[in-house]
Amino acid sequence: MNSRSHYEVVILGAGLSGLAAGVRLAHFGKKVCIFERHNAPGGLNSFYSINGRKFDVGLHAVTNYVPQGVRGTALSRVLRQLRIDRSELDLCEQRQSRITFGKSQPVTLNFNNQFAFFESEVAKHFPLEVDGLKRLVERIKATDYSPQAPVLSARAVIKEFIHDPLLEDMLLCVPLFYGSAQEGDMSYSQFAMLFQASILEGLARPFDGIRPLIKVLLDKYRAGGGERRMKCGVKRIKVNAGKVSVLILDSEEEITADVVLSSIGALETTALIDNQSNADSNLQSSPHVTEGRISFAETISVYKGEPLELGFGQDTALFFNDSDRLDYSAPKTQIDTRCGVVCIPNNFIFGADRKMPEGIVKITCLANYSLWTNLSDEKYKADKEAWYMQMQRSALKYYPSANEYQLKGSLIQSDMFTPKTVKRFTGHLNGAIYGSPTKNISGTTAISNLYLCGTDQGFLGIIGAMLSGVTMANTHILTKGGVEA
Ligand SMILES: Cc1cc2nc3c(=O)[nH]c(=O)nc-3n(C[C@H](O)[C@H](O)[C@H](O)COP(=O)(O)OP(=O)(O)OC[C@H]3O[C@@H](n4cnc5c(N)ncnc54)[C@H](O)[C@@H]3O)c2cc1C
Repeated sequence: MNSRSHYEVVILGAGLSGLAAGVRLAHFGKKVCIFERHNAPGGLNSFYSINGRKFDVGLHAVTNYVPQGVRGTALSRVLRQLRIDRSELDLCEQRQSRITFGKSQPVTLNFNNQFAFFESEVAKHFPLEVDGLKRLVERIKATDYSPQAPVLSARAVIKEFIHDPLLEDMLLCVPLFYGSAQEGDMSYSQFAMLFQASILEGLARPFDGIRPLIKVLLDKYRAGGGERRMKCGVKRIKVNAGKVSVLILDSEEEITADVVLSSIGALETTALIDNQSNADSNLQSSPHVTEGRISFAETISVYKGEPLELGFGQDTALFFNDSDRLDYSAPKTQIDTRCGVVCIPNNFIFGADRKMPEGIVKITCLANYSLWTNLSDEKYKADKEAWYMQMQRSALKYYPSANEYQLKGSLIQSDMFTPKTVKRFTGHLNGAIYGSPTKNISGTTAISNLYLCGTDQGFLGIIGAMLSGVTMANTHILTKGGVEA
C-alpha cells in the first residue's frame, strides 16, 4: 500500500503562475509542493538547449514595464508580493516597436514605452481619431476587473470611440497576439488589461532572457521551504463529498492536500477528475467552458552578427497584417502567414557596454493544431521546413533592407515550434497557448478545495501569470488562514 504524503497546498504545474503562487505560500510558512510533469520549470515560458545553445521558448517581452519607483502597477505589485528586488530581473526597455497594417498602402504606428509617442503616431495617421483614443484610454484606466463586471466585446467597446476599422484592428492586435484565447475578438476586460500592459505601460526584457526570472522564483521558493517535484505529473484527482480527497501521480503514488491550486487549465484539470459527474457540475459550470483553438508556430533564427546589420533595423517587435481586416483565428491552413509578430531580442536597450553574443529573430504566426497532429515524423519535419521558409518570406516583406540570401549565409542555427510542440510540453488542449476563451476570474470551482490559477483564471502573459498565482494564493489560501495579503 502507498504511504501518502500530505501537504497543506499542492500546486499543479511549475509555470510562472504555479511558481509565483508557491513562492507566496512558502513565504507564509505553508507546507506546499509543486508537481510538474516536465523536467524544466517555466511552462509556456521556459527554455531548452540544442547543441549547447540555449533558446527561450515563450519570451518576446515582459509586459507591464514601468520605471523604477512607479507604484500601484501590476509589475510593482508582483515584485512586492514575491519580495523580488527589481535589480534581480535586470529589465531592459524596448527600443521601439511598430504595428504595420494594410493591404495596398500599409500604415505604420510606431510605439515605445512612452504612451505620448504612440498617441502622436495615431494623430499623424488618424487625425480624426485622436480624441476618441484619449477617451478610450480613460475608459481603459477605469475598467472594473471584478468577477462581477459584465463581459463585453472589446470590438464593441472600441467602436464606441474609434470609427476607422483599420485603427480598430491596429489597437486590438497587440492585446490579441499577446493574450487572446478568443477568435476574432476578445473580452473587453482582457483587452483593457493587455492594452494597459503593453501600450500604456511597456515592454522590457531581462538581459539574459527568461532564465534569471525563473531562477529568482525557484531560489525564493526553495528558501521559503517549498518542495518541487519535477517529471512528476498528476494524472488523476479523486473527489469525495465535493472535495479533492486524493491526487494520483503518474507514478501511481498518492498525495493528499488541504487545498489544490491548478495552473494547468480548466478543461485539462476537469479531465483529471475521477468522477466525471463531479467534473461536469463543477469546473464546467456557468459560463460553459469551451476549448481554445488559438495556437501559434514560431521560428527562431540565430545569426552571426546583429540583426540591425543584417537589415532588420531597430524594431524590437513588429506586428504585421497584410489583409484588409485582421483575421485572428485558427487558420484553415497549417499556418497563416498573413499576420504575425516578429521579435528581435537584440533590439532592447541593454546599455552601451552590453550586447547579445548572437543575433536572434523570432517570427510568430497563427497555426492550426489539428493540421499539425497525426503527421508522420517525416512529413512533420518536411512541413516544418517548408513553413519556416514561408514565415521568413512573409516577415521579410517588412524589412526591405534584409536580403534572404545574405541571411542564409549568416544563419548559424534555426528551430521552430508548432502547436504540436506546445501540446506536448505543456499539456494545453489543442496547443491553445492562451487556454479557453472562457475565463474564471474568481478561480473558484464548486469543488470546495480546488482553485484555478494562471491561463484559465484569466491573467495572461509573464507578469499576468505571476499576478494570477499571487492573487489566487492570497484570496483562497492566505486570507482564509488569517494572513493579511
Ligand atoms: C510562444 C509564446 C510566446 C509568448 N510570449 C510572451 C511574451 O513575450 N510576454 C509575455 O508576457 N507572455 C508571453 N507568453 C505567454 C506566457 O508565456 C503565458 O501566459 C504564461 O507563461 C502562462 O503561465 P501559466 O503558469 O499560467 O501556464 P503554463 O506556463 O502553461 O504552466 C502550466 C504548467 O503545468 C504543467 N502541467 C500540465 N499538466 C500537468 C499535470 N497533469 N501535472 C503536472 N503538471 C502539469 C505544464 O507542463 C506547465 O509547466 C508567450 C507564450 C508563448 C507560448
